[in-house]
Amino acid sequence: MTRRLLVTGGAGFIGSAVVRHLIADTDCHVLVVDKLTYAGNLESLASVNGNPRYGFVRADIADAAKMRDLFANFQPDAVMHLAAESHVDRSIDGPAEFIQTNVVGTFVLLQQALAHLQKLPSAKAERFRFHHISTDEVFGSLGVDGYFDEETAYKPNSPYSASKAASDHLVRAWHHTYGLPVVVSNCSNNYGPYHFPEKLIPLTILNALEGKPLPVYGKGENVRDWLFVDDHARALVLIAERGRVGHSYNVGASCERSNLSVVRAICALMDELAPDSIGPRERLISFVGDRPGHDLRYAIDARKIRQELDWRPQQTFDTGLRKTVEWYLTNRNWWERIRSTVYRGERLGAGV
Ligand code: NAD
Repeated sequence: MTRRLLVTGGAGFIGSAVVRHLIADTDCHVLVVDKLTYAGNLESLASVNGNPRYGFVRADIADAAKMRDLFANFQPDAVMHLAAESHVDRSIDGPAEFIQTNVVGTFVLLQQALAHLQKLPSAKAERFRFHHISTDEVFGSLGVDGYFDEETAYKPNSPYSASKAASDHLVRAWHHTYGLPVVVSNCSNNYGPYHFPEKLIPLTILNALEGKPLPVYGKGENVRDWLFVDDHARALVLIAERGRVGHSYNVGASCERSNLSVVRAICALMDELAPDSIGPRERLISFVGDRPGHDLRYAIDARKIRQELDWRPQQTFDTGLRKTVEWYLTNRNWWERIRSTVYRGERLGAGV
């Protein structure tokens, strides 16, 4: 039977990849609800616009009356909740929005999902799911070895990760206390097309293209476990469909790289795909003051999703990064407006 999915944050980086995947590869009906903050962009959904199985509503997830109407009118079989403030550096400069959207907004959605569930006939109620999309940053920082698995204790360190941890806890409590059928996923750093150019990989690509300094925090030793966004989108749809109620799933592709090695890899690709007559891009690398409280290392143990849901990433870091650089080189229209108006590449989150 065709499923009806309410996707919050569907105009963002990961949400739009999920929506493009759902429309292209499934027969689901999708309603996106998104506030269109600086990070939301309807141009990321241009390829699905006009499809009869896709709809869009501009709204704030913290607006309870609007969320109540959305549930009543759309009658979703499942919610995929991606709407969030998502940038650690911005959470250092202005944490209030992170509490409002990530914590209060998630609370409002949980309440509306529960009210909706309680009105469903039992067969539909049994199939209803609330899928909360979260981050591995809730687990805090690893040392040089070890991995995050689904049993790892929460130790969030930034305002962003604390707000996501709070929302994970609310989701867990709404399952445990009220019986809301939830599933949670915690994912490592994503990269790929349509990534807002405040984040390391797109910022480095675009600065390299324009011959600007390539900022690297501290000594560039911090390690992230990189996942291509379309691999994450496939994982999320599997989790929403087949994840066990009350469980969480860690998602990662075992692609650990230090920030400096990521920047160097981008320089090499840019030198190959868009050569600069002045010389190799590595000359642009510029070490800047570290992010306050910068977590050293994140790394995911993804055995559970591999074994239970038979998910595998299709991209290695090398193939995914090449696709990403090629996408930015051929999709200037998407990022030129952002770079000239919304965000010009200034340093964020340096602390006081
Ligand atoms: P993003 O910042 O690109 O997109 C967030 C979207 O949410 C935007 O379209 C924005 O307009 C919307 N939004 C923000 N506040 C809203 C509100 N109050 N009401 C409705 N819509 C609102 O983020 P992303 O990178 O696509 O991340 C999506 C989700 O995945 C987030 O929950 C994030 O915590 C999680 N996550 C991200 C990563 C990553 O590497 N990007 C990794 C793991 C988990």
